[in-house]
Amino acid sequence: MSGAIPAARYADRLARTAAAARAAGVRALLIGVGPELEWLTGYDAKALERLTLLVVPSDGDATIVAPRLEVAAAEAAAAIGAGAVRVRPWQESEDPYEHVWETLPDVPGARLAVSDTLRASFLLRLQATYPHAAFEVAGPVIGALRRIKDADEIELLRAAAGAADRTIMGLAAGRLVGRTEADVAAEVRARLVDEGHDTASFWIVASGPRSASPHHDPDDRPIVGGEPLLLDIGGRRAGYSSDITRTLWVTGGDPAKGPDDGFRGIFGLVRDANAAGRAAVRPGVAAQDVDRAARAVIDAAGHGAAFFHRTGHGIGLEGHEDPYIVEGNSQPLEVGDAFSVEPGIYLEGRYGVRIEDIVVCAEHGADVLNQVTREPLIVSGT
Ligand code: ZN
Ligand code: ZN
Repeated sequence: MSGAIPAARYADRLARTAAAARAAGVRALLIGVGPELEWLTGYDAKALERLTLLVVPSDGDATIVAPRLEVAAAEAAAAIGAGAVRVRPWQESEDPYEHVWETLPDVPGARLAVSDTLRASFLLRLQATYPHAAFEVAGPVIGALRRIKDADEIELLRAAAGAADRTIMGLAAGRLVGRTEADVAAEVRARLVDEGHDTASFWIVASGPRSASPHHDPDDRPIVGGEPLLLDIGGRRAGYSSDITRTLWVTGGDPAKGPDDGFRGIFGLVRDANAAGRAAVRPGVAAQDVDRAARAVIDAAGHGAAFFHRTGHGIGLEGHEDPYIVEGNSQPLEVGDAFSVEPGIYLEGRYGVRIEDIVVCAEHGADVLNQVTREPLIVSGT
């Protein structure tokens, strides 16, 4: 649930989405459980085998066809409770697709747009229900609206980022040496929840040479002094996602076990690439130009091949969403776009560094939501 989004906002989103469907020549949007449903209604529904479907016609009121036993949960959501969406319950012994049909009778040749993550089994039944309709995905209709965060959403993202920041600093201040990656990962999950997250979504804890693997899965390797520790963590707080990466160096309390020159070198490059990416953010700049700005720093130092992923991804109700900060995405950034800037350098068998921040495109440039230092975090870990 997105507690801080006022109910009236959902009615506005539904109206703008219907207008966008009308402009695109789409008869109706059929939205299953997922982020589109949550954005349109505030309903963070359970993904069940029973059909829950929001029908948004281009020319009328929205209706949610929901299992009878889920109605109370649906009505607890802002837009549905406020009456902006009609509720049409279906009983266990009924065919929910008949309810959908009665909500939206067939118009031969009409275009129907389904949410991108609608289950294939639901889509096949809908296609059988509307044999004369043309089906497509709703992403192009709704994605451009959902991409731009309003002021309330930006504050929710900022609160999630602050909680993730405090989690990183708490870990950096605590004991690390002698503990396994998996044990530290459990602490990541607990701290994110203690900081107000509803759920932790990922907890990359990559020690020593494991830091060269961008999506390392923490295991029973013990952390020792004299090696880096890459932490890439995040989850959902009040519906909105957090995502931060910092690469620590753990000394174990031994001043002789500080970072070597090689690590200091790649750390400085990644820090400068992160800064260059953030500095490139402005309304009207192509998404790929943020990627190019970050990548140029690493390329110029001869490490281009060791930065083998895109610079960033959009973030909001989903951990990864539009806009993607990647070569080939020439879409101009707009005020309200929220995304990560996360360059990295990965040297197989040795170590890796990534520094990730969430930023929002504002009139003046990047509004950086994460506040943890980007200078080397050299910790004792004892
Ligand atoms: Zn991340
Ligand atoms: Zn990320």
